[in-house]
Amino acid sequence: MIFESLAEKLQKSLNKLKGKGKLSEKDVKQVMREVKLALLEADVNFKVVKKFVNSVKERAVGHEVMESLTPGQQVIKIVNDELTKLMGEEQKKIEFAPQPPTIIMMCGLQGAGKTTTSGKLGILLKKKGKSPLLVACDIYRPAAIKQLEVVGEKADIPVFSMGDKQNPVNIAKASIEHAKKNGYDVVILDTAGRLHIDEELMDELENIKSEVNPKEILLVVDAMTGQDAVTVAESFNDKLGIDGVVLTKLDGDARGGAALSIRAVTDKPIKFVGMGEKLDQLEPFYPDRMASRILG
Ligand code: GDP
Repeated sequence: MIFESLAEKLQKSLNKLKGKGKLSEKDVKQVMREVKLALLEADVNFKVVKKFVNSVKERAVGHEVMESLTPGQQVIKIVNDELTKLMGEEQKKIEFAPQPPTIIMMCGLQGAGKTTTSGKLGILLKKKGKSPLLVACDIYRPAAIKQLEVVGEKADIPVFSMGDKQNPVNIAKASIEHAKKNGYDVVILDTAGRLHIDEELMDELENIKSEVNPKEILLVVDAMTGQDAVTVAESFNDKLGIDGVVLTKLDGDARGGAALSIRAVTDKPIKFVGMGEKLDQLEPFYPDRMASRILG
């Protein structure tokens, strides 16, 4: 499970503070040193760790804490608050266009979970009473269109495809016309991924963006790739501009660095998390619940 090792270490360190009637600055510093190490071992971005530890320390050695009856508990509360803040505080929802269809562009590297997440998102939207359409914009991988069709079938959501002979911009534009004519109010574009970020991929995504003006650009990244996921998010955000991140494979044993760093590094929220391969395993991301999970 994600955060397993981090949670264990943080709880062990912070528990040392719990029973103490009085705390010295030295106690706090000692524990924060352990917290810092645990975060670094969890693959959290080092700048993020530094800033986090400083904010906690600043608040923890204040009067209110040192002189309170349960200073240890107060420090734990501060760590909890700051972890929540680090991950973006509130749950950030998808925005819908005032005039349907709402266009959601899914992007990311190959294997991150884009196609699966497109289907999962469609299912969540259907539950909210929306009528989504999935669109196959990846014309490069022979199996990509078929894969989306399989996902669409499982999710009971129609898939718009024009084969692999049209360019993705035309496919996206045609899909929007199709949606308008047939009453689909959300269009989910499953764009192509590559193994690495390259200019061609970015150019294509920029073209789609400027032609169809999506309401949401969601970047799908794999939590198992740790800081690479953060670097990918930074690049996509710099080059394309994203509105949010979907962090997949949180059901695996990712150390958690990506979940804790992405918001702070890119200033873009994690909106959803993938919790398994099944199409109903996508959940909104709640920073406060995630923080509580880490601190037990
Ligand atoms: P794409 O290349 O980005 O479209 O990625 P896919 O949607 O094909 O997903 C790649 C692999 O990751 C597939 O085997 C998916 O079943 C798997 N996958 C996607 N999301 C999750 C998730 O949240 N948890 C787990 N365990 N596997 C996932």
